[in-house]
Amino acid sequence: MSGETRPKSAYEIALQQYDAVAEKLDIDSGTRELLRHPKTALEVAFPVRMDDGTVKVVTGYRVIHNTARGPGKGGIRYHPAVTFDEVKALAMWMTWKCAVVGIPFGGAKGGVVCNPKEMSQGEIERLTRRFTIEISGAIGPHRDIPAPDVYTNAQIMAWIMDTYSTNRGEFTPGVATGKPIPLGGSLGRNEATARGCVFTIRQAAKHLGIPMDRLRVAVQGYGNAGSIAASLLHADGCKIIAVSDSKGGAYCGKGLDPAKVLAHKKLTGSVVEAEGTEFISNADLLELECDVLVPAALENQITADNAPRMRAKVVAEAANGPTTPEADDILFDKGVMVIPDILANAGGVTVSYFEWVQNLMVYYWTEEEVNGKLEHIMNHSFAAVLDMAEKKKVHMRNAAYMLAISRVAEAAKLRGIYP
Ligand code: GLU
Repeated sequence: MSGETRPKSAYEIALQQYDAVAEKLDIDSGTRELLRHPKTALEVAFPVRMDDGTVKVVTGYRVIHNTARGPGKGGIRYHPAVTFDEVKALAMWMTWKCAVVGIPFGGAKGGVVCNPKEMSQGEIERLTRRFTIEISGAIGPHRDIPAPDVYTNAQIMAWIMDTYSTNRGEFTPGVATGKPIPLGGSLGRNEATARGCVFTIRQAAKHLGIPMDRLRVAVQGYGNAGSIAASLLHADGCKIIAVSDSKGGAYCGKGLDPAKVLAHKKLTGSVVEAEGTEFISNADLLELECDVLVPAALENQITADNAPRMRAKVVAEAANGPTTPEADDILFDKGVMVIPDILANAGGVTVSYFEWVQNLMVYYWTEEEVNGKLEHIMNHSFAAVLDMAEKKKVHMRNAAYMLAISRVAEAAKLRGIYP
């Protein structure tokens, strides 16, 4: 064997996080083992007709990790690097996320191996409709409810809803969330992941005694979560000193204007070289001296390699799985407050829950109502996690896992085993 160690897969990390907490909790060994496994894991392959007449065979996944507390819930990502293993990890994280904020869903996730940046709208639509049919036995408003994730959006949710509804001959808006507003989407859903993350940052700043208008913030990733978080934080008076996307980053020590950077990205495809900014790499952005770092891109960004050099006071995980367990320990020892993904980015699924409720009762709320209910849930959940972390002297991820795993295990125990 060589001395080199293979990086752990997302699922190995998800299990490591789970095991570390579950073995200390008072749950029976059967339930403890059950929660290590996905309940259903579907791999499908299907043909898609491309615009040039050729046929591409595409692989997709839908994994339902657990349904003890309610139907499966979680996004679908379209990305060339999607793996089955990654989707299994993301599904498990959804179970804990829904439990930690107390919404009545289990956890699920989907992924399709493709690069939507290189596909036409027609190709993305045909892929989406066929994928919906391939997983149509697994999804449903009381089974498992997809939503947007990396490189998917409201239009894609509209196609999923339309395909499912057309095949069933019934308008079924509750089969997917994150839909466009005219099709039963909820006001506030598009901004919800970022807004929820900002609520947790406000609570963290309050706890640390730093006013919002003194915070210097760096944001990694400029998609739905990252770009909206940057603009909401800017509106709170924070100074956004750096942002990035998959092509690189833009730095401005005096603070940049997130709306101008977004306009530049829309025009050129990247935040790089936005007016008044200097180039910064993604790696350097993570190590910037700042108050709050918001990782809002992909997994495995903060590791044992770079964590010792990081200088942020707070890390608010808008992305899923950006920090490895080794990095968690390093940051904890350095006194960095990490607001874990299953709490920091739970605003998205929380407003998905509101959307689903509105779809089922066919009665719609104002944006103020949605944002008010979201704020209540985020603040309450943040306080519960922080309280647990202080009582048990653990970092906030382990505290969040303690709350989440206990709730899921309790539900599983109450339901019992059939037959
Ligand atoms: N994809 C988002 C997440 O990772 C939202 C999931 C949902 O709304 O179901 O939490």
